[in-house]
This record gives sequence, C-alpha cells and structure tokens, in this order.
Amino acid sequence: MFDNHMNRALEQARLAADLGEVPVGAAIIHNQRVIAVAHNTVINKCDPTGHAEINALKQAAIALGTPNLSDCDLYVTLEPCAMCAGAISWARIRNLYFGAFDEKSGAIEHGARIFSQSTCHHRPTVYGGIMADECGGLVSHFFQGLRQKL
Ligand SMILES: [Zn+2]
Repeated sequence: MFDNHMNRALEQARLAADLGEVPVGAAIIHNQRVIAVAHNTVINKCDPTGHAEINALKQAAIALGTPNLSDCDLYVTLEPCAMCAGAISWARIRNLYFGAFDEKSGAIEHGARIFSQSTCHHRPTVYGGIMADECGGLVSHFFQGLRQKL
C-alpha cells in the first residue's frame, strides 16, 4: 500500500523532471483516496515556494474545504525541507511518508529537524526511506544532467 501511494508521488517527480524542475513529487491520501498530487513548479511558475509538498497541501485543503488536514497522509519522494516541514505541521498532516533522505536540504532527520523543535505544535508520525533508491535516483540523475550541461 505504501508503495502504491509512493508510486503516485514518483509519477509526479518524473513529470517534474520532464518539465526541467527538480524531480520531487507528492501525493495526499484521505480515507484511502488520493485527493492531491503535485510536483515542484518553482521554475515554471516562477514561485520560490512551489515545492511539491506545498502544492499538494494547497490542493488537498481546497478539495476538502478546510485547512485542517489532520485525517490526511502525505507521501513525498524526498525528505521535506524546512519550509515544507513547517507547512506540513501547520496543515496538521497525520502521517508523513518520505522517500530519499536529503542530507543537504532536508529538515526532518537533518538540519533544522523542524518537528523536534519546541515551537512545533503538531508533529506527524514520520516514516522515512520508503522506496528511497528509486526516489533519490531521480534527483541525483537530474543534478548529474545539470552538471554535464555546465
Ligand atoms: Zn520543500
């Protein structure tokens, strides 16, 4: 089941790569139903906040008609950054499943460790490393390609 939902997020990550975006994808599940899928849109929408998680949270909130997503689970292919971790907390996401660990920009198991801070008032249950090789492979492949262009 986890793989199934992570595959939805992976599809989105591949789509992002095709569009020249950093290949990160996300899916939000409510009552076993996928209510949002999204990918990074930073470049194409000229939006520094256009991360997959933020885009998916906005879609899900609109779909449910509430900013409180406490009955929802979020799947994302990469460990969320500090901005997204904050948004996930504000949205009151129940379970967070992420793919690859991100030593460089992640803020769950690395860096700011947002959910461990005393100023964080809602912590989802976190499951990291799901299909990590596949999820992380997309990102490293993408950046290798960029370096070759330089
Ligand atoms: Zn982010």
